Amino acid sequence: MIIDGKKISSLLIDQVKKEISVIKKKTSQSPGLSVILIGDYAPSQIYVQNKKKKSIEVGIHSEVIKYPKEISQEEVIKKIKELNNKKEVSGILVQLPLPDHINNEKIINTIEPSKDVDGFNPINVGNLASGNKAIVPCTPLGCLLLIKNIESNLTGKNAVIIGRSNLNGKPMAQLLLKENCTTTIAHSKTKNLKELSLKADILVVAAGVPNLVKKDWIKKDSIVIDVGINKVNSKLVGDVDFEEVKDIVKAITPVPGGVGPMTIACLLKNTLECFKKQNF
Ligand code: NAD
Repeated sequence: MIIDGKKISSLLIDQVKKEISVIKKKTSQSPGLSVILIGDYAPSQIYVQNKKKKSIEVGIHSEVIKYPKEISQEEVIKKIKELNNKKEVSGILVQLPLPDHINNEKIINTIEPSKDVDGFNPINVGNLASGNKAIVPCTPLGCLLLIKNIESNLTGKNAVIIGRSNLNGKPMAQLLLKENCTTTIAHSKTKNLKELSLKADILVVAAGVPNLVKKDWIKKDSIVIDVGINKVNSKLVGDVDFEEVKDIVKAITPVPGGVGPMTIACLLKNTLECFKKQNF
């Protein structure tokens, strides 16, 4: 089965839209999302544009605050503090990567945790790790929703995650642990990656290496989630050799059209959740 990320994400987006419309009718209020975009890195411009467009479609008030790449860290921090105190701003997102002179950690730590729609602030990271209620990073949250769409009870499953980034691998592992999976995180220094991968009932690959995972790494009837987005000969491919693997697995996400659309849907969901928590 090929997991249709576009379809599943559009159902989630519809739900968010409906909920916002009900809230708006009752209270005349709606969520707001402020995105800070620094510099002129082309992919970031596209991601931010897309986030704004989708936010507006579901009824989230959306503003993009653009700065040139020379902006000082102090100036950005001042802006975030201002947004932290604005009632109409439910969520704050600083588009990464940042220019070299700006410290990621300082910026992320300045975002008020209850408005941290990306779930990168250490308070949210800690809450997720402790199994408490947290704002969860959008891509791993999207992956979990896709997996649960195939199999609702994950208790006792062997989950292997390839990649240990703060953005993807680590939060993915926390989410699957919370679902009672036996969870292994593999990375670039892992030995016997193929043997580990072969034991996975659920395999999530977020390495950024085109076609890393081949047919002989896959357990029959497993669920494979391919987070990777790589450009090869001007074509987008994932970290899994989709053509080789698709007939062995129970379900697999394609690239594009798998995890990608879920990420943005989960951003809208997180913004709505932040708004509800702040207001009701
Ligand atoms: P990253 O570079 O921060 O982390 C990559 C991880 O993979 C590291 O932990 C590294 O140890 C591991 N790794 C690298 N090469 C490996 C190998 N040969 N074997 C095993 N492990 C290896 O990357 P990231 O930000 O987590 O992103 C990973 C991929 O996901 C990229 O292709 C990125 O473009 C994509 N991505 C997709 C979405 C989406 O919405 N679909 C969102 C974010 C990132």
